[in-house]
Amino acid sequence: MRVNYQQWEKGKTFSDYLDTHNIPRSLLQSISEEDKKLLLEIRSGYKYYELLDNNGEIDQALIPISEEMQIHIFRKHHSQEYGFDIIPIVYRNQEYFGKIEISSNPYSDALKATNYPQVAKRLSMALKGMVNTKKLHKGDEISFIYMQKTRLGELYAMPKIKIAKIRMGKKEQYVYVDEEGYGYSEVGKKVAYTVTGKKKVVYTRRVSSSKGKRFGMPLRHPRVTSSFSYRRWHPILHRYRPHHGTDFGARRGTPLLAVNDGKVIFAGWMGGYGRVVKIKHAGGYISLYAHQSRIRVKRGQHVKKGQIIGYVGSTGRSTGPHLHFGLMKNGRWIDPMKVLRKKSAAGTILKKFTKYEDVTTTKYRKIEIKGAEESRKKLDAYLINDAPSYIWGKERFKIKLQDEEVIENEE
Ligand SMILES: [Zn+2]
Repeated sequence: MRVNYQQWEKGKTFSDYLDTHNIPRSLLQSISEEDKKLLLEIRSGYKYYELLDNNGEIDQALIPISEEMQIHIFRKHHSQEYGFDIIPIVYRNQEYFGKIEISSNPYSDALKATNYPQVAKRLSMALKGMVNTKKLHKGDEISFIYMQKTRLGELYAMPKIKIAKIRMGKKEQYVYVDEEGYGYSEVGKKVAYTVTGKKKVVYTRRVSSSKGKRFGMPLRHPRVTSSFSYRRWHPILHRYRPHHGTDFGARRGTPLLAVNDGKVIFAGWMGGYGRVVKIKHAGGYISLYAHQSRIRVKRGQHVKKGQIIGYVGSTGRSTGPHLHFGLMKNGRWIDPMKVLRKKSAAGTILKKFTKYEDVTTTKYRKIEIKGAEESRKKLDAYLINDAPSYIWGKERFKIKLQDEEVIENEE
């Protein structure tokens, strides 16, 4: 029998493994559906062990699927049949002490003291935010305890810093480290963190009703002489023509009033309409006042409802003094009287709106570092006994686990 130590190759599947070792695929049928999912957890670079017999055939194999669990394949006694199991990985978890005297920075000094880059990295991580490393001076001291797992004599998984003590001149400070490797100045503490998200907010707002502000009449004493029509006998042209507006009879010089608030978009001569003012209103309306004797507004001017914008006349194609009043809605001529006559109680209405607001909430996470008191006593004991840093040997070590990087000693 001999032990073979291997690294799982990239792209290799569990079935491939069975095939290369002449293990019948029927083994797969004996594996439960739940366990089959775990076969996909084997990562390239994972180290596994094989126990081979004199013919080079597999007697047993141990293939990790996580830091804690492994696949166990074993040949059943005196047969060519194999069994399958998922079992915990047996490893040693041992405590180590490290002490550095600052000569450049915690990382490189820790690397020098332990010959183990991951310890240096983890120490830097633990000190982050706890110690202003720029304020460290030559001769300051950092001591720490960390745990390291080994499996069959090989480094296994990343080191875990438990506690660190920093002496800056005469000042001393402990840093307690949580499971993830982050340092804290206290053993138990609530740590605030913020969560940002969207919150649905429903609110009501007063909005002008869809009809907008009520329209007024273009004259103080309106008298309709000709109505809006799509087909009307034209007295001057002597033919049927549509009449895109309402004619109001009035004496020359009678003031013309803006039917609503708006902006003058035309003020000038417009062919048969003579002197014309056009006003743009809210809601897609445009009003037109034709045949004026005199215009009193300018293009671009904002006008209020009831404001005098000009005077009745007979300019353009007209039989006598009158107002031709046109009203357009969304680009089409409509019957003005249907809008001007309306006694809508318009105004405002209450409307419901929904919006999503960014919200930031502060939440608290309780940090409790287990065994901190014990670690502190241990660390102080190491210091009193003037224990040396544990220096990792020059033997080649490689660690690879999921989400962790490969550590290689340079040689
Ligand atoms: Zn007309």
